Amino acid sequence: MSPVAHLALREAMISTARRMNATGLNQGTSGNLSQRVEEGFLITPTGMEYERLLPEDIVLMRFDGNHEGRRLPSSEWRFHRDILAARPEVGAVLHTHAMFCTTLACLHRPIPSFHYMVAKAGGTDIRCAPYATFGTEELSRHALAALEGRKACLLANHGMIAVGSHLAGAFSLAVEVESLAAMYWRALQVGEPVLLDAAEMAVVLEKFKTYGMQPASPT
Ligand code: 13P
Ligand code: ZN
Repeated sequence: MSPVAHLALREAMISTARRMNATGLNQGTSGNLSQRVEEGFLITPTGMEYERLLPEDIVLMRFDGNHEGRRLPSSEWRFHRDILAARPEVGAVLHTHAMFCTTLACLHRPIPSFHYMVAKAGGTDIRCAPYATFGTEELSRHALAALEGRKACLLANHGMIAVGSHLAGAFSLAVEVESLAAMYWRALQVGEPVLLDAAEMAVVLEKFKTYGMQPASPT
């Protein structure tokens, strides 16, 4: 296969990776992203500065762990692979060391229903997966469990993961979750945030099924 097959997807991944850093959602060579394709998935290479990335640096991986291309895949390819394999509705996985998500994750604190927008991640809270060494199967197992019924989770002493049907969705959810983490952290400085109860969160979760859907625009 041509090294630049899926060129548009590779370019979108590079611009999303650069945007993660430019918007303060991530820093340095931390973080990684993947995108489902017919043959498996595309994933960012390990340890490379996003500014230097060329489309041919993005790695094509199969679900059996084999990869093609001139670079080695992200050290976190296992959780990308396992999430994409277990969740057919997920088309893209984004991982960052976002400042406020990671601050809470270092305290092993999930984000509870202190704000209705927590439901954007799919449930009544955003869980924090227990710590495991980066790049391990153990971390992948913890991440998958924390993501059950959810589209985002924190990773203890590490960072966060957001998923979406496509890359833009995963990115905007990551921005949303990071701003929730920042609000929750700020609220904790002042006192004990008041939580929304399960009944109210159920109402919000129901409303989110249709929220933001615009009628088809007239031709
Ligand atoms: P990679 O550069 O290997 O993708 O690792 C970054 C990271 O965030 C590990 O958890
Ligand atoms: Zn990481």
